[in-house]
Amino acid sequence: MFRFHSIKDYHTALIAEQVTCIQAVNYYLDQIKQHQNLNAYLEVFTEEAIELAKALDAARAQGLPLGKLHGVVVGIKDVLCYKDHKVSAASKILENYTAVYSATAVQHLVDEGAIIIGRQNCDEFAMGSSNENSAYGPVKNALDIERVPGGSSGGSAVSVQANLCMISIGSDTGGSVRQPADFCGVIGLKPSYGRISRYGLIAYASSFDQIGIFSTTVADAALVLEVIAGADAFDSTVSNQKVPAYSQEIKSIEVPKKIAYFKETLEHPGLDPEMKAQTMAYLEQLKKEGFIVEAIDFSLLSYLVPTYYVLTTAEASSNLSRFDGVKFGHRTKDALDDLTELYKKSRTEGFGEEVQRRILLGTFVLSAGYFDAYFTKAQQVRKKLVDLTTALFSNYSILVSPTVPTPAFKLGENNHTPTEMFLADIYTVYANLVGIPAISIPLFKHSNGMPFGLQIMSAGFNESELLSFATKLMEPKELNA
Ligand code: GLN
Repeated sequence: MFRFHSIKDYHTALIAEQVTCIQAVNYYLDQIKQHQNLNAYLEVFTEEAIELAKALDAARAQGLPLGKLHGVVVGIKDVLCYKDHKVSAASKILENYTAVYSATAVQHLVDEGAIIIGRQNCDEFAMGSSNENSAYGPVKNALDIERVPGGSSGGSAVSVQANLCMISIGSDTGGSVRQPADFCGVIGLKPSYGRISRYGLIAYASSFDQIGIFSTTVADAALVLEVIAGADAFDSTVSNQKVPAYSQEIKSIEVPKKIAYFKETLEHPGLDPEMKAQTMAYLEQLKKEGFIVEAIDFSLLSYLVPTYYVLTTAEASSNLSRFDGVKFGHRTKDALDDLTELYKKSRTEGFGEEVQRRILLGTFVLSAGYFDAYFTKAQQVRKKLVDLTTALFSNYSILVSPTVPTPAFKLGENNHTPTEMFLADIYTVYANLVGIPAISIPLFKHSNGMPFGLQIMSAGFNESELLSFATKLMEPKELNA
């Protein structure tokens, strides 16, 4: 990160007058310019970032109190509203749409002195696992530009990976923060459902969506979470639970000792053998360090992806109905006097192929003849998973698994059938189905040179334990990007 290891180190240097916010901003603007080939940003807020950096430097010089994220350079995924700035969900249907208010999370960042440097490319409406579904072209993995960065928050992951900002804010409906973090070798945190307000986050599947954080250290993710989490009158699904001072708690609370993993996740035939071997060896190592690590049976693994895709497409078909060319979004230029035709044409022109596929799937599973067979069944599976998770965490503090079954694949390679792409989400969708927090930390390297992570999960609203465990595992080598 810039010349610093963490936000804390950056702040120490700012206070010691060894660096200024304007230097930080200029550094990142230059980095973004030099790495345009990665296609990580859809828009950079250059002038504004420079002005704000100058104002923050002046405020510091005057001895005014500093926000928790004073001068921290943040990129936001193009699904987060930032008042008076464009937001498109990487879709043609929202091209040139300007946000009329700021997402609560974005407002919290700004209130604590963060500098929003730009909006980041992603899969259209956050639907995808490779960032190949953006209407504005794919994002490239900075470690190997022939490979995908993962998705849907690919631009956000690459921005942290390639040092194009200090922190990125993404969204995670079924893995969209953790999976690209895994592919890019950075930290990706998805908090509990309801930990952060979704107000101002363009909805994909409302009962799954959660804002998440990309960083290079766990401490930075904890600090940002502490700033953006918490109750919000604009989102009735957000929890009123008090927000702990996560950045302090990760140092003071005891590291949880009892760890479970689902036997079926490591035995899955789709898991890359080398990743399996490294993950197993790592779990053995943890045992030697005194952790209790136990395999438990999980017969529902093969139900996760179908359940996730039935429910999320159903919710998406409803959420995306507002983009009809009349209330919101692109309207066809063809002068049509038939309203249904106008809707059809506008939506066909505006939505990309993957989004159309999901709207159709969602409409199908919600249709009268199939509702019980698909939607109701999937809700029942979800309920079962929730019960099972409650039982699990009454016995264990931590659940681990690989984040993704394979390392980052080549652009175009995994795109043969949509189902192949869906299956890559097998390990990440669980946390969204049951609403628990999960983090991917970059512990491993594949022999093909690409990084991969370990996914750690805890009981709902137990981010403090989750983050302190992640800190412990990252200890010998917090990323020094
Ligand atoms: N890959 C998953 C999907 O396409 C996850 C997306 C997300 O988390 N936004 O639905």
